[in-house]
Amino acid sequence: MRISWTVEDGHWSLGFRLDPEDTLDGTVTDGHRVRLATNSCSVHLPYAVPEPHPDLRALAAWTVVAPYTVSRIVFDRPVSPGFAAAIEEGWGIEAGPVGDVAPRRGERLAISYSGGADSVAVATILPDAPLIHFQRVSHPRVPNRWTHYRSDVLARLALRTGRDVTIVRSDLEFTLAEPRPGYPEHHAVAIGAMLLADHLDLGGVAFGYEMGSRWLGGGRYVLRYTPDNPMWSPHGKWGRLFSAAGLDLVLPVGGVSEATTMRLALASDLRDQVRWCLRGGDGGRCGQCGKCLYKELIQAAIERRPMRIEITADRPVAAKWQKPPPYGGQEMIEYGCARVPGIEETAFAKAAAYLGATEESTRWLEHCYPPALAEIPERWRKRIEDFMVEEVGLMTEEEARRVESWGLA
Ligand SMILES: [Zn+2]
Repeated sequence: MRISWTVEDGHWSLGFRLDPEDTLDGTVTDGHRVRLATNSCSVHLPYAVPEPHPDLRALAAWTVVAPYTVSRIVFDRPVSPGFAAAIEEGWGIEAGPVGDVAPRRGERLAISYSGGADSVAVATILPDAPLIHFQRVSHPRVPNRWTHYRSDVLARLALRTGRDVTIVRSDLEFTLAEPRPGYPEHHAVAIGAMLLADHLDLGGVAFGYEMGSRWLGGGRYVLRYTPDNPMWSPHGKWGRLFSAAGLDLVLPVGGVSEATTMRLALASDLRDQVRWCLRGGDGGRCGQCGKCLYKELIQAAIERRPMRIEITADRPVAAKWQKPPPYGGQEMIEYGCARVPGIEETAFAKAAAYLGATEESTRWLEHCYPPALAEIPERWRKRIEDFMVEEVGLMTEEEARRVESWGLA
């Protein structure tokens, strides 16, 4: 794989060329298969910046091309020895050219901000951190059959937070032909933070990945404790690569469940800007999609009220909840089923009967898992830890064992 960036003002274009052994059918770190649609994409920063450190340019490109690279990657600038070593150790890929390049570092922490409840919770914990929002735009060579995805609405909501917001527009999701447009690697969502890191003096990027994504398998495994999560643990291959580029991966809500991030988001000043549905227009959520159904279960549980949604058990978006577990994100289904009044009248009636969860059996999901705080870099840890102690409460040892035995019981 060979990559090249061309830059004009704030417009960054990435071109890449596959080697004979490279593949159009790749595998993302989360285990999902992807198929390449085209070999170029672009990233539009809101302003021009001086050329960033070569490791940042390389990291940004790697989040797009990693799934298709089989034996080597040739960047368009020499990278530092530590950065090349992190790719070789993490992926078994030869990376270069390697130059006499000093490793970079920075001081500030920015938030990769989507506008969903998890990232709003992070923004609440870190009220001074700048927000960097990724906005999907169409690709000039790939038809957009996903026009219902309202990235324009999400960007407008981000701007309405009144925070220091940088909107980064990119068509990189259209480099995927299958299964659908999306991030080639999840980390690509922060491509703007990578290219802006020197200009903004960033030493870390905070993501809204919560306990389910970090410790309970997330989308990669169902019902499995994942201390060595390759995407989000600091000692995993992506964590080590980001650190090599002087940009630590930071998960301020990595120790709390989606119930807690939603509770924090809905109680925050940014409540009116929270939006997890990608389909709704300016009027609000669509109320028809699977994401709306899942999130309504959690919100109803937090607010201790019946669900307010029209989706019934016979609808395709509710089909998976009619089958027996395991489910992805099962901890939150248990939490919701244990707490929503009249659950037996909803699309989750069957799931609730299968799971048999109670308030007592799901109380651990209201507290913070301490090892998640221990892995936050020390320079940012205390304020996050103080917030968790005051606003959430730490898990007891017995509750922490629920995390560590997840899927074994
Ligand atoms: Zn929706």
